[in-house]
Amino acid sequence: MKKYIIANWKMNDTHPTAVQYVSILKNKKKLLKKENVVLSPPHTMLADVARDIKGISISISAQDVFPEKEGAYTGEICASLLKKAGATYVIIGHSERRHKLGETDAEIAEKVHTTLNEKLTPILCVGETLNERNLKKTRAVLKRQLTSAFKYVKAKRRKILIAYEPVWAISTSGSSRKITLTEIDESMKVFKKVVESSVPKIYKSSKIHYIYGGSVNEKNAKNIFSFSSIDGVLVGGASLDIKKFQRIIEAA
Ligand code: PEP
Repeated sequence: MKKYIIANWKMNDTHPTAVQYVSILKNKKKLLKKENVVLSPPHTMLADVARDIKGISISISAQDVFPEKEGAYTGEICASLLKKAGATYVIIGHSERRHKLGETDAEIAEKVHTTLNEKLTPILCVGETLNERNLKKTRAVLKRQLTSAFKYVKAKRRKILIAYEPVWAISTSGSSRKITLTEIDESMKVFKKVVESSVPKIYKSSKIHYIYGGSVNEKNAKNIFSFSSIDGVLVGGASLDIKKFQRIIEAA
């Protein structure tokens, strides 16, 4: 099965990166056809990147969505506008939104609902903090995040990506606690079971793809892709450097 390689560019001035990306990736059509590569630029660049990648096998994701359909919500962007700009995926519930911006489970549930209603594919992010892990609350936290995220979703055949991103494993280049390859494989196996038991109707009706995110880079990608527990990766820091990102695609 094709692996997902999702770049999350976050709130970085990625315009130079995007131009460089597209010109380099345009010459790698064969490589791109073999995998599902998804770029998530800041909202202001969505339409430009979507236009530039026409004709090559790359998809575009938004980094967030506002749950209302349209109207007087200054500064927000709804799913239909993201779709018009060229997005086919939406990252929802990223840990930075949950923990730095106070996004709640209830808001995330509405975002998942609006995204699926607009026939966009959600990339739902879930994961425990280090404190929760140390208190052995990982399963309970994942269960709570999953059940509430799919609260409004009816069982139906569709594609859903769920990214397990342990908060403590994200952007760990300067940190002493780094996730090990064994921890990634074991956590993903547990994670799949938690998904199955927490949202059984969604699990049975939808095609769920299991994504891992947290300090994936050009050095560990090959090992990570060798785990059958993983259908793809969500990459933050290493996706800002086209050479590193290209090596991650090659590793898949
Ligand atoms: C992320 O922010 O989703 C992420 C996985 O970041 P990094 O790859 O830098 O750990």
